Amino acid sequence: MALTNTQYDEIMHEYEMTRAFHRDDQGGRIKYVEEHVPGFLELEQSTGSISAEFGRRLLAGEKLSKEKLHSMLEEISAKKKVLLREAGLPENYLEMEYDCPICKDTGYVDNEKCSCFRQKIINKLYSESNIKKLTEKANFSLLSDEFYTGEDLERFHVAVKTSKDFINNFETSYPNLFFYGTVGTGKSFLSVCVAKEILERGYSVLYFSAAGLFTLIQTNSFDYKKSEELRTLYDDLYNTDLLIIDDLGTENVTKSSSSEFFAIINERLIRNKSTLITTNLSLEGIKSIYSERIFSRISSSYHLCKLSGPDIRVLKKLQY
Ligand SMILES: [Zn+2]
Repeated sequence: MALTNTQYDEIMHEYEMTRAFHRDDQGGRIKYVEEHVPGFLELEQSTGSISAEFGRRLLAGEKLSKEKLHSMLEEISAKKKVLLREAGLPENYLEMEYDCPICKDTGYVDNEKCSCFRQKIINKLYSESNIKKLTEKANFSLLSDEFYTGEDLERFHVAVKTSKDFINNFETSYPNLFFYGTVGTGKSFLSVCVAKEILERGYSVLYFSAAGLFTLIQTNSFDYKKSEELRTLYDDLYNTDLLIIDDLGTENVTKSSSSEFFAIINERLIRNKSTLITTNLSLEGIKSIYSERIFSRISSSYHLCKLSGPDIRVLKKLQY
């Protein structure tokens, strides 16, 4: 789907607000240090006067070495760091902070949209995909194995280990992950845990339930007015760093949705983009409901992770 001008402006405004927030925040820290760290303000003032004096003498035609000025300023900056340290503050206490250090909250790197910008677009366009909200309820710090025992517990630990490997190898080997098993065994939960970590590493994540995804493709396909939207939807499906398709098999599986599905996973493999799929279907089920070629792509290019056990959602309800 394409971003409207208003939506684009909204995103740029968000960036402005973020930068303003961090500027104020930094201003507050500087003020605090100037007032509470003895000698700091004087050092700052001397930086200003040394530079000004240097400028004046240059203008007056004196031949001065820039290195000299540079080394004087360096010396002051080192003294400032000492003062901060002595006051029990970190050396970088006065540096500007950013939500996204990659683009410094501007949304762009070398005229290209930053991954944080792409994620903002995703969050705006695909309300279901607003993974930030989901990660409040599912992340590794909330992960618990209390409902698993025996073989189920072993599988769960393997799945957690595989998820962490997936995250650590994300940048270098574009891994794919396939969680399968019965209802309520923590597959979706784990997939959101993974999404959170990947987002925090600065990548874009697009999250869909299978039903939501195929309905969206269908709606846009049948409406010729939406051809532009369909084109950008595919663009996002093919190019987002991580695509999560949750609950595969709950959509209305037709010949056309099945071939769409193949196109998506195949294209992403070609483009070295990671995909994470969860499903309640068995591997046999995948083969019979979809196609041999889909089964073959998944079994050869995905880490297959089976989860089993009682339905955790039901157990949790019983507990409270
Ligand atoms: Zn950024």
